[in-house]
Amino acid sequence: MGKVYLVGAGPGDPELLTLKAARLLSCANVVLHDSLVSREVLARISSGAAVVDVGKRCGRKLLTQDEINALLVSYAASHEVVVRLKGGDPSIFGRAGEELEALRKARVEFEVVPGVTAALGAAAGAGISLTDRRIASQVLLSTFSRGLDANAMDWGCLTPATTLVLYMPGPDYAEVARRLGDAGLPADLPCVIVSGASSSQQQVRWSSVGALAADEKLPAPALMIVGRVASQQVRELGEAFWREEGREFEARTVSVS
Ligand code: SAH
Repeated sequence: MGKVYLVGAGPGDPELLTLKAARLLSCANVVLHDSLVSREVLARISSGAAVVDVGKRCGRKLLTQDEINALLVSYAASHEVVVRLKGGDPSIFGRAGEELEALRKARVEFEVVPGVTAALGAAAGAGISLTDRRIASQVLLSTFSRGLDANAMDWGCLTPATTLVLYMPGPDYAEVARRLGDAGLPADLPCVIVSGASSSQQQVRWSSVGALAADEKLPAPALMIVGRVASQQVRELGEAFWREEGREFEARTVSVS
């Protein structure tokens, strides 16, 4: 019996892989990966490994979740190191729960190797702090498309000091804006859209809940950071803050399209 590693591939940049993830990719016997995993990360897989794409293509699933679960169990019976490679972190909107349950049931040994989730890659790309202590006290990682009831979002904990990170916002920004408005978020609340965070194609667009509807769509994968931290003005305040503190602050250039 082999061991299954649920490994986070990070948001795209292979340098954001953990040392452990990189080591496992270089010694894996078989790697099952999602379509979200970047080409640069896939290039780190040992040439001797069998590589299986179990991701979605053009909205069409290549394999069902049950089929993926069954594959993991059967590969573990015949291979020593089985890597299940997922974009970002396996435990954030990554269906790790179902796969871990299947492995537990089949009594297959497993280990989860965390990765840099897209929210963190996007915040880094936009040059903002998700928990800027002057304006944010909590972060909510959320999405519209969950489970069977896409409307079942629990945003009861949203406060003016919450940073909301919206995974899988989809291409209909007008609909996103409407749902954010329905959740009680004001039209002038800042929002930043980050596409391809940490990759060479990264794009950052500054907007607001009210302006979002008219915004041009950015290519997938993209996510939205909504809240007072998602503003360039906050960054300017930040510079003043650090000057006052007598420290050096090097303003990072952020591409605004
Ligand atoms: N497990 C992943 C998330 C999977 S859900 C993680 O931890 O990051 C897929 C969604 O993640 C995409 O629709 C998009 O909203 C977001 N995402 C993943 N990679 C991204 C990237 N490089 N830049 C921006 N958003 C990304």
